Amino acid sequence: MTQKMLEVHNLVKRYNGFTAVDALSFEVYEGEIFGLLGPNGAGKTTAIRTVMDIFRPDEGRVEVLGQPPGTDRERIGYLPEERGLYRDLRVLEVLVYLAELKGIPRPVARPRALAWLERVELVDWADRRVKDLSRGMQQKLQFVASLVHDPELLILDEPFLGLDPINVELGKGLIRELQGEGKTVVLSTHQMNLVEALCDRILLINHGRAVLYGPLDEIKRRHAPHAVRLRTPTALDVLPGVARMERRDDTFTLTLEGITPQELLQTLVERNIPVEAFEVATVPLEEIFIAVVREGKDA
Ligand code: ATP
Repeated sequence: MTQKMLEVHNLVKRYNGFTAVDALSFEVYEGEIFGLLGPNGAGKTTAIRTVMDIFRPDEGRVEVLGQPPGTDRERIGYLPEERGLYRDLRVLEVLVYLAELKGIPRPVARPRALAWLERVELVDWADRRVKDLSRGMQQKLQFVASLVHDPELLILDEPFLGLDPINVELGKGLIRELQGEGKTVVLSTHQMNLVEALCDRILLINHGRAVLYGPLDEIKRRHAPHAVRLRTPTALDVLPGVARMERRDDTFTLTLEGITPQELLQTLVERNIPVEAFEVATVPLEEIFIAVVREGKDA
């Protein structure tokens, strides 16, 4: 059975009577990349802070690695929303210090920290002070700081903020590699393209409540329009079961009514229509996010 790395059950967190997290339940399994999404103020950071034992829940239950929050800090890595490393310390020094705090002996921590600096292309900055690094470089350093003690569960709040496209690629590669090593990653971000590229399952929170939860591909399938995209060099006539046809260059978006994509494909083959590309249309996660959050507003 897949191991639960995180279990949140009916979590309620209030600030002076305002309910920021409202009966929220979700689970994160070993080895997955889990996306925690939601509009500004939805309650993501509050939920994460409860998991990290910064706040106590008002109601409900949270279990991290099968134990109450705060029990096993060495096995968790956390990149908080608010950034801030010791600005006057030197880059390598900071990493070694943080690793030691999490129980890694200095002789192990030092080469490991150097190897990570190498990986994120900061090794030439090892002896410089943190405050001399650019914002993006500090971001990469903080990312490394959250995992230098080799945690099993990584909680990353907006890890890509302020990174250029090359460093975003670097970060994506590292997260995939960590997953390849069996680590579990909880990723909170507003960048939906990154969620689509990385996440296995997602939770979308709105007003402190879960509004979408499950495997990303399943959610995308559920919200898919009943349409296909077809690339063909020929003009298209009316086709049975096609209610609407939109054309952009040589690609058609065909809205289906009463037939499956397979049945349409069969018709195309029967009519000798050359098919250069054929795919079932999906909606970008960004559109699903906006639609679901707007729906919540109207309700
Ligand atoms: P963002 O995407 O903007 O970071 P978020 O989903 O992380 O948002 P939270 O920071 O968890 O949202 O905030 C949830 C709600 O709780 C917001 O309405 C916020 O104003 C409120 N809130 C958060 N922290 C506090 C606090 N310390 N005291 C009072 N209210 C708070």
